[in-house]
Amino acid sequence: MQKEQMTKLIPFLKERGLRITPQRTLILQTILTLKGHPTVEDIHRQIPQISIATIYNNIKLFVSLRILKELPYGNGLSKYELANQPNHYHILCESCGDIFDFNYPTLTQIEHVARKLTQYQIFSHQMEVYGLCPTCQNETKVKEGD
Ligand SMILES: [Zn+2]
Ligand SMILES: [Zn+2]
Repeated sequence: MQKEQMTKLIPFLKERGLRITPQRTLILQTILTLKGHPTVEDIHRQIPQISIATIYNNIKLFVSLRILKELPYGNGLSKYELANQPNHYHILCESCGDIFDFNYPTLTQIEHVARKLTQYQIFSHQMEVYGLCPTCQNETKVKEGD
């Protein structure tokens, strides 16, 4: 599955005029392996042989080429995910900064409503939901129990 995704990514990179180096392949492979929404630090922890500055620079490049999407919210550390994913929304934990994906296809109706109300040509929409994740809810309960 990961290999499949990687084979799909390589022509995508070439299309964008990007040289495929072993380092770039390794960084992207690591992001695929980590799933979810890793930070640069999370990626570096998996591949400590590549310097954090190199990882950061490549990630910036991937973002500018729309290979990765930057999620700038949460606890101040940007998180990243592959850009070519089905449309989904994010729920964020205000305590630990964890981000979880969920889908709610009905929300695309908001684009039709927005177009009707404003006559704008609509490209996309974004929404985040904020709360406390199950792990942090349990920790609060444990503390309360003391
Ligand atoms: Zn949490
Ligand atoms: Zn996501």
